[in-house]
Amino acid sequence: MKIVDDMTSTYRGRFAPSPSGPLHFGSLVAALGSYLQAKANNGLWFVRIEDIDKPREQAGAVNQILDALEAFGMHWDKDSNTSQFLLPNDRDCLVQTHRLERYQQIFEQLCQQQHLYACECTRKQIKLAGGLYQGTCQNKQLAFDNQAIRLHIAEPVLEFEDLLFGKTRSNHDFASEDVIVKRRDGLFAYQLVVVIDDIDQGITEVVRGADILELTTRQLSLYNLLGAQQPSYLHLPLAVTKPGFKLSKQNHATGININDPTPELISALSFLGLPVEADLASASVNEIINWATSKWNINNIPKQTELLV
Ligand code: GLU
Repeated sequence: MKIVDDMTSTYRGRFAPSPSGPLHFGSLVAALGSYLQAKANNGLWFVRIEDIDKPREQAGAVNQILDALEAFGMHWDKDSNTSQFLLPNDRDCLVQTHRLERYQQIFEQLCQQQHLYACECTRKQIKLAGGLYQGTCQNKQLAFDNQAIRLHIAEPVLEFEDLLFGKTRSNHDFASEDVIVKRRDGLFAYQLVVVIDDIDQGITEVVRGADILELTTRQLSLYNLLGAQQPSYLHLPLAVTKPGFKLSKQNHATGININDPTPELISALSFLGLPVEADLASASVNEIINWATSKWNINNIPKQTELLV
């Protein structure tokens, strides 16, 4: 049953897919891990559509993803914190492109606080200078029009405690790179909006794939700049086809079969350290999900950033 957020639950989790294609086994694992962790903690679980990079969106993917989550027994809750942003077709999920005014508001706040500057460096120039941006434009006072806008990270967060991987440190230069928050083409960047959304939705714990493990310190620096309470983090092993190659929409991972969800649900649970007992193999999706919620234990998740599938 769908819970309408009554603000009394303390745990607030989320799954935040980018609609660049249908859900595949890798994103199913991320959805399932975040769902089970929320529900095993009697929490709320929201789905947020991260379509900020509109040009990468594949037509129809949003509904395909939501239909797949439902077919796999993962029903999301409605977030009352951000319900004013919901449009009739949003199926109770926060959609990033419906929040552009909110992002602009925070952008202007950061600008007034002098945390932002325009940058004219090309990708090629940054690559030639070693790959990490060195703050070259910080004191140039360039006009903001048609330029990438960077956030100056004066006090970088260098480490955080991940619930699976423990103390996770970032290289100082990486953690203190001034990240782009608005692209030259005018689109807000993932790094900015993910933090604004997690703050506005009151997310208490972020559960997602280990491909974002390293980026977390940068997101935490932004939490500090915005004076917001940091969530806890649990990064899950990534499904890879060979070391370094994650299953993704970009490498054409095949969509999961929503007409026969049980086999892939069982594989995803086993991937997360929860092998399904033989007598459940013929149970309904909801029975398997309820069983998994009652047995869920993050200590069983393999402590590896990648797992071959
Ligand atoms: N939208 C990102 C993705 O689909 C996930 C970002 C996050 O969970 O913070 O890979």
